[in-house]
Amino acid sequence: MAKDSRKCSFCGRDEKSVDILISGTSAHICERCIEQAQLIVKEERIAKGKHKIPSFKLLKPIAIKEHLDKYVIGQEDAKKVLSVAVYNHYKRIAHTSSKDSSGHDDVELEKSNIILVGETGTGKTLLARTIARMLQVPFCIADATVLTEAGYVGEDVESILARLLQVADYDVTAAERGIIFIDEVDKIARKSDNPSLTRDVSGEGVQQALLKILEGAVVNVPPQGGRKHPEQKMIQINTQNILFICGGAFDGIEKKISSRLQTNLIGYGINKEHDPIERDNLLQYIAPQDMRSYGLIPELVGRLPVLTYLNPLDKDTLRQILTQPQNSLIKQYKKLFELDNIKMVIDDEVLDYIVDKAIEFKLGARGLRSICELIMRDAMFNITSHEKKDKLHIDIDYARKQLSKTNISRLKVA
Ligand code: ADP
Repeated sequence: MAKDSRKCSFCGRDEKSVDILISGTSAHICERCIEQAQLIVKEERIAKGKHKIPSFKLLKPIAIKEHLDKYVIGQEDAKKVLSVAVYNHYKRIAHTSSKDSSGHDDVELEKSNIILVGETGTGKTLLARTIARMLQVPFCIADATVLTEAGYVGEDVESILARLLQVADYDVTAAERGIIFIDEVDKIARKSDNPSLTRDVSGEGVQQALLKILEGAVVNVPPQGGRKHPEQKMIQINTQNILFICGGAFDGIEKKISSRLQTNLIGYGINKEHDPIERDNLLQYIAPQDMRSYGLIPELVGRLPVLTYLNPLDKDTLRQILTQPQNSLIKQYKKLFELDNIKMVIDDEVLDYIVDKAIEFKLGARGLRSICELIMRDAMFNITSHEKKDKLHIDIDYARKQLSKTNISRLKVA
C-alpha cells in the first residue's frame, strides 16, 4: 500500500489530515480516535463501576500545614483553616466513594468551598496551587472578572470546567476531584451604590452562574480548547467533589467589618477602653455577613462556608519570601547559575535593598521577582558555561548600578 494512502480505519481521515497515525497489522488509528476511544472506555468503566479511582495519600491537617509552611511564608491562620478544610473535603470524598451502594448514611457530609480574603500578592493563589500540587489533583485558575466581561455567563462558567478537564488530560474522574481557584471574586460583587443598574445585574448574574457549579451539579462541558472534533459530544462533569477556592482583595471591606464590630460592641455594652479589637488588622475579624454587605449574594456566601484571610506582607515577610521557601527566588537564581557551573553569592545587604525597593514602589511580593530580574539580567545575558567553578558576587554596588540602568517605576504597571 502506498504510504500516502493510509487512512484511519475508524474515522476515515487520511494521513495528511491527522497528526499521528498508528498502524496495526491490518488497520490504522489516528490520535483523535484514540482520544475518543479513551473517553468511551472510561465512561463505560464508570458506568459499570469498574473505574479505578486514583488514590492519593490524604495527609492529616498538621502534615498539610507543614507542607504549606515549606512554600508559603506567614499566613498562619489561612494555612490552618485551609489545611482543615482540605482534609475534610478529601476525607468526605474518600468516605462517599468507599460506601457500598446499599449503604446510606444518616449524616451527610457537605462540601466546604473556601474563600480567601486578602490584598493582591499575599499568597492566595500560591496557597491553592501548593495544596493542589501536594495532593496531585488537577488544578486551574479562573478569573471572575473575565466572566463579567463576557456578559452571557452560562457558557463561560462551563469554560472553567473545560479548563480543569484539559489540565486533567480529559480524565473526567480526576477532574471531578480537582481544585479550581477563582480569582478576583470580589469584582463580581453587586454594587448597591453604583448608579449603573446594568453593572449590578451583570455582577449578580455571574454570581448566580457560579452558584450552580459551586453547589454541585452535573454540567455539560464542551471539551473546547483542543482540536475540534465534530463527533465529540459534550462531556458531563459532576462538580460535587470539586473543591472551589475563591480569592479576592475585597478592597475597603475593613469598613464593613468595622461598622459591624462597632454595632456589636455597642450592643453588648463593651467598655471601649478595654477594646479587645486590633484595629490595624481588621481583616482577621471577617465574617460571612461582611461578604454580604460587600455585595456577594447570600446564596453564594452560603456556598463558601470556609472563610479566612491573609495578612498584608510586611518587610520581614518579604525578606523571608526571598530566601526561605523551598523554591524561593534566590534559590532559583542560584540554581540557574549553578547549572552553568557558577556559584552565585548575594550579600544580605542586597536582599534588604530588594525588599526596600519592592516596598518603596509598592510592588509587593510579585515585585521581588521583577527587581531580581533587573539586577541579574546582565549577569545572565553574559553567561558562558564554565569548565571550572566560577563565582558571581552580587554586592550592593552592583545591584544599585544594575537598577539605576532601568526605570524601576515602570514595574508598577506590571
Ligand atoms: P495573590 O493570589 O494573593 O494575588 P499570589 O499567590 O499570586 O498572590 O502571590 C504572588 C507571588 O508572590 C507568588 O508567586 C509568590 O512568589 C509570592 N508570595 C506572595 N505571598 C507569599 C507568601 N506568603 N509566601 C511566599 N511567597 C509569597
